[in-house]
Amino acid sequence: MDVDELLDESKQSVDNLVYCLENDDPEFLKLLAETASSVLEEHCGKGVYLRGLIEFSNVCVRDCLYCGIRRSNSEATRFSLTKEEIVDCAVWCAAQGFGSVVLQSGERTDEKFVDFVARVVEAIKARTVSDVLPQGIGVTLCVGEQSREVYQRLFEAGAHRYLLRIETTNPELYRNLHPEEPPLNNRIDCLRALKEVGYQVGTGVMIDLPGQTSEDLIADILFFRDEDIDMIGMGPYIPHYSTPMGKAFRDDSSRAERALKKGLKMIALTRIVLRDVNIAATTALQALDPFGREKGLQCGANVMMPLVTPPSVRKNYQLYEGKPCLDDAASQCSLCTKKRIEIVGRNIVENVWGDSPHYFRRT
Ligand code: SAH
Repeated sequence: MDVDELLDESKQSVDNLVYCLENDDPEFLKLLAETASSVLEEHCGKGVYLRGLIEFSNVCVRDCLYCGIRRSNSEATRFSLTKEEIVDCAVWCAAQGFGSVVLQSGERTDEKFVDFVARVVEAIKARTVSDVLPQGIGVTLCVGEQSREVYQRLFEAGAHRYLLRIETTNPELYRNLHPEEPPLNNRIDCLRALKEVGYQVGTGVMIDLPGQTSEDLIADILFFRDEDIDMIGMGPYIPHYSTPMGKAFRDDSSRAERALKKGLKMIALTRIVLRDVNIAATTALQALDPFGREKGLQCGANVMMPLVTPPSVRKNYQLYEGKPCLDDAASQCSLCTKKRIEIVGRNIVENVWGDSPHYFRRT
């Protein structure tokens, strides 16, 4: 099959997409990346948007089998930043020209937590209003499964984007990853509630999970399309030694390369099928390859999330092993990200929220 044919929607069948995901011929990969890049340029332009990633707490009530900050991991030292610390990070991001921040944490649903997040969002919005950002910095939340009322409240506080990965759309695999958590349907309902509240909605999956097939991954892409998702953040699964899944994981020498390639092909295919969404080149890609994120940009991604979490707590927010930039300061991550984007010939768009064009098309 010719990569060009994929541009024709009628050719985007499960069989054709699986064929592309499984094709490891270097020439084919090059063509796939070029095709994804041309789709990106046509629908979104070549600009790259930055979101400062603030991991503000690793306290979590969930027990996801793959995740290093799961409730049962007694080896994780728990922390929560104060409101002032979080707001300072966001103010710093605004001064750097990042138009947006992402507030990410472990999951809690108690009233105290929700109230705290709402007050943090309000304070960030108030403190970052400027000539270039008349409505303050853009705030994306990533704080897990909440009720519609909570989503509404956080939206009213000023957050306008929300990331909630579906992790996998295969219900059985989902249950194996989260045996004690609510089922896949609950997450789908959350994504729909987020959309109804008015958020730009982001989701994504982990790639190369044990037991996950190519068909599963292609079904994930079609799910993003059918649910009219605005933003995608996905990356390879990386084991964490103190989780049940990490302990049971059987590594092999070709794993990193295979997972990276699959991750890049997923980005390219998602770009080709969804066209006008924002797609992040995630940190997990960099955990597998020092240039993983740059390669993500070359396969159709247009968002990067430099880590701005204070270095003192970074090591406590380890979802997986080998998290990069553990000892860097935020300023180093900012500079490094900017250089990395320039190296691959792309330009950073500063001082704008960088919303997903898809959101405006669907609303
Ligand atoms: N509690 C929040 C966010 C925290 S985790 C939420 O549920 O949305 C953010 C993402 O990290 C998860 O959605 C998951 O896809 C990813 N993640 C967790 N553990 C991982 C691992 N071992 N390897 C790769 N990605 C992982």
